[in-house]
Amino acid sequence: MNLKPFAADPQKSLGRQFKEAPSKLRNDFQRDRDRIIHSGAFRRLEYKTQVFVNHEGDMYRTRLTHSLEVSQISRGIARTLGLHEDLAEAIALAHDLGHTPFGHAGQSSLNQCMKEYGGFEHNLQSLRIVDVLENDYVDFNGLNLTFETREGILKHCSNKNALKLGLIGERFIQKKQPSLEAQLVNFADEIAYNHHDIDDGFRSGLLIFDQLQDVPFFKEIALKVKSESPSINNRQCMRVTIRRMMNIFVMDLCHESQARIDKKNLNTINDVRNEVPIIALSEDLTKKQQSLKQLLREALYLHPRVQVMTDNAHEVINSLFKKFMQKPDLINIDEKHNQHDLAKLVSDYIAGMTDRFALQTFEKLCQH
Ligand code: MG
Repeated sequence: MNLKPFAADPQKSLGRQFKEAPSKLRNDFQRDRDRIIHSGAFRRLEYKTQVFVNHEGDMYRTRLTHSLEVSQISRGIARTLGLHEDLAEAIALAHDLGHTPFGHAGQSSLNQCMKEYGGFEHNLQSLRIVDVLENDYVDFNGLNLTFETREGILKHCSNKNALKLGLIGERFIQKKQPSLEAQLVNFADEIAYNHHDIDDGFRSGLLIFDQLQDVPFFKEIALKVKSESPSINNRQCMRVTIRRMMNIFVMDLCHESQARIDKKNLNTINDVRNEVPIIALSEDLTKKQQSLKQLLREALYLHPRVQVMTDNAHEVINSLFKKFMQKPDLINIDEKHNQHDLAKLVSDYIAGMTDRFALQTFEKLCQH
């Protein structure tokens, strides 16, 4: 690994909450990544919705395949920029652990249910999973990850919540930046979902090839692909176009970020933390990214068939929340908890459910 001096360095990590002896074979970020991959929360990502509900088809992205794509893109960018690949990979694999069943619809429903009890936010929940909820270790709660991985997982946070989180929340109060590895994973996340949602949207038939021509960036590349291979069908053309677009985004991100790095005098990770955000797309590609997002929002996320899922998710999550609050013994929670603590436990339980487990439980307990 050709590490730059401002990359995160496991030897200089701010450490784990519970002190552990170092591994003989792996650096601390590798160890974090391995703990994430072996966690129960990671396995459950396989059955959680990205945009399409899991049972709608086997070829759609799930939270798991999305996370793998984010990790692949992140590692490539990290290697190009001389940053720590293992850290970028660990953050990417953990970045969506806190998602509820049924994607964003599930998160907004659970947030609504939790309104009187501090709300629900998937990003905070990802941190809560690795800090508290995973329980496979004897000496500590959670996975006891390094500060750098936890810092990357917590990508946004209100000041109110930051105050409750100790050291990991401080940067939000002091308006500081996380490591470059954490910054790049956010971009890799967006690059991954913008492109795979076009692919899944097309596969589902909700997004048609002609609609994509409304995005000039897509149209320009698709025309070139067709002129190179006139016999190509729309599906192949779309796949090739998506691949080229992703490549353009990743190259632009590396190029623009390297130019920004070159302009700064960065010698350590602390210089990175005290700077403005460094990892960035060029202005041109930022605009192109916005046009892709707009198309996806209008043509896919707000499509009536996707909206049906939103309505179903509300019903399932609301009903389960009410049911478990009334009868916490159904999920082995002691009734003696006060309402606030009980709500938090119920919310942890529901957030951890996969789509199909939530649906099965809903059918069993709430539909008579
Ligand atoms: Mg994501």
